Amino acid sequence: MSLSCIKTPVLLLCAIVILLAACPATGSAEDIQPPETVIQEWEIQWFNEQMQPERLTSPSITEPWLEANTHAPANQIPKGYTGAWIHIAVPPTAGWPLPGLLIGRLYGADITVYNDGNLLYRSTREFSFERGTLLLELQPKSTASDLYIRINSMERAGLNSSVRIGGYEHLSHSRVAQAIPNLVLGCSIAFMALIMLLISGYLNVRQRKPWVLLGLFALSASFLILTNYTLPYVYSTAYGRLLLFLYDLSMLTVFPAFHMYAATIFEGKLTFYRTFGRWFTAYCLFGLLVLVAYNLAGDPLFVYYKLFTLTLLLPLLLIHLGLVFSHSVIQSVRGHKNSIILASGFLAFTVMFAADLYRFYTDESQPMPFLWQIGVVLLVISLVIVLARRISADHKQLVTYSQELEQFNRQLQRTEKLKFISEIAASIVHEVRNPLQVTRGFLQFISGKSDEASKSHFSIAIEELDRASVIITDFLTFAKPELDSSIAELDIQQEMAAIKTIMNPLAVMNGTVLQLHAADKLYVLGNTSKFKQAFMNMIKNSIEAIHTKEDGMVTISAYEENGMAVIRIRDNGEGMSKEQIARLGEPYYSTKAAGTGLGLMVTFRIIEMMKGTLEFRSEQGQGTEALVRYPLVHKPT
Ligand code: ADP
Ligand code: MG
Repeated sequence: MSLSCIKTPVLLLCAIVILLAACPATGSAEDIQPPETVIQEWEIQWFNEQMQPERLTSPSITEPWLEANTHAPANQIPKGYTGAWIHIAVPPTAGWPLPGLLIGRLYGADITVYNDGNLLYRSTREFSFERGTLLLELQPKSTASDLYIRINSMERAGLNSSVRIGGYEHLSHSRVAQAIPNLVLGCSIAFMALIMLLISGYLNVRQRKPWVLLGLFALSASFLILTNYTLPYVYSTAYGRLLLFLYDLSMLTVFPAFHMYAATIFEGKLTFYRTFGRWFTAYCLFGLLVLVAYNLAGDPLFVYYKLFTLTLLLPLLLIHLGLVFSHSVIQSVRGHKNSIILASGFLAFTVMFAADLYRFYTDESQPMPFLWQIGVVLLVISLVIVLARRISADHKQLVTYSQELEQFNRQLQRTEKLKFISEIAASIVHEVRNPLQVTRGFLQFISGKSDEASKSHFSIAIEELDRASVIITDFLTFAKPELDSSIAELDIQQEMAAIKTIMNPLAVMNGTVLQLHAADKLYVLGNTSKFKQAFMNMIKNSIEAIHTKEDGMVTISAYEENGMAVIRIRDNGEGMSKEQIARLGEPYYSTKAAGTGLGLMVTFRIIEMMKGTLEFRSEQGQGTEALVRYPLVHKPT
């Protein structure tokens, strides 16, 4: 899997996310109704339900009301109080067949609403999530009326947005539409995370760890998105506690998972990073215990719950984020690609988060932060890309390993065969050479005494015996090359020129042109006759590969490259397939009717003895190139 394969789906996903997030929360446009009335101001009266129980049913008539508005919403409960009465002056609502009131954001655990003395709405919460929205159905009235909201809460009570009065249906739509992007984002990330976690069961141990960590990170992030939004709490008060628990749980898992996942990306020792990661994870596990205890035991443990899952967690989070960010930046600078991708995702998240904060503090209506969620998506995407790159790198490595293994296996087989042949050759050569020498001696002796007519026959016989002896000696040097110790410094230019002179007649006979370009001052160590034998074998093969062609050409070049002497023999003959190349040097491997299949075996052996390498490149129908590399000897000048 390459990066380009993931690019398209990633871009698509980005586009969908941005579209979803950018889509305005509008309701249906068909209904022709009077425009909404937006109320920006209201009044507050604080109370303490223990000390002033009578104020639970109605606000005080004597105590003053405090002015509040969208710019100064004053929703922090002052010391000594447990809640607030809010007074909203509602204008006439007769213009709408079914009027409604929507407060986009307000704080409070228990909320009770009275309109002109009648109880209109009541909701209580058993969990400590204070944020909410309030949507009410009003009576159509031709005169203005007073709306009193009683809020009991822990820290904050009161409105945090303007009050919209309009058609109930329309307001209800707009409230739901606002939550849809969150829902879609959260659910899609959760879906992806669940699939990742499911698949992890099929992976090997090495791959599983980053996969599970990323799955856990994505799942926790999706829960944060889903449970951070107010609407689920408003619609399902019964599950509020569970939602809140999931939120806290996600807070405690998302960061350690991120920390550990990032550790799998970074390179190097990371001593402090890992130590902090361990402590951080241990702390989060402890926080988890506190969270469970608080959920079981309830309010008495609230102080500890708050201390461990919020107050103390925050500085740790900052250190963690700082560590991840600094490491990813440092490693990006060093050119680690995965770190660059991680750093970009992280940066995207930070920019989105900062943009949210900027909007919150500069826009007077204090809009709900939502860009951070896009940041989370971008971060998750960057992490997924890193994971994909890892898998693809793993795969590549696996392929390389198996190729190397195959090559090694072939080499092993060849060496085994060679060893066997060498041993047999050595023993046979010894056995045959002696009788040959004896026979030659006798032949010479008899020839001295024979008549002139027979003498020529004897000399032919002796010549043939000598030829046989040379072949056998060659065979012996192949079997035991170390026996031939006449090693000298060879001038490649000179050697190749001599080889060309020897091989030229054969080339001419085959209608092939033999060309030589050899640089001077290339010196290597070796035995001159072996050296010639090796190259003559290869050149002969090239000439033979050309057999049918008319414009046959064998080019020999010798030059220096990276401190090595390179000799290249190139022909435009029939070429070889990959399988053929793989078999070169194997004893008795030949495609020729009269071939022995021993030429290259000997060649490989000679080059190896001279500490050189031989490599073939070939294309069927195009030609073949043999590349020999020898270590250069630098001659003092
Ligand atoms: P032989 O020449 O006796 O067949 P070699 O060991 O010299 O044995 O070569 C083995 C085989 O390698 C040849 O039969 C031929 O198929 C192939 N070969 C070697 N060199 C070339 C070349 N330059 N072009 C095409 N095939 C070649
Ligand atoms: Mg040959």
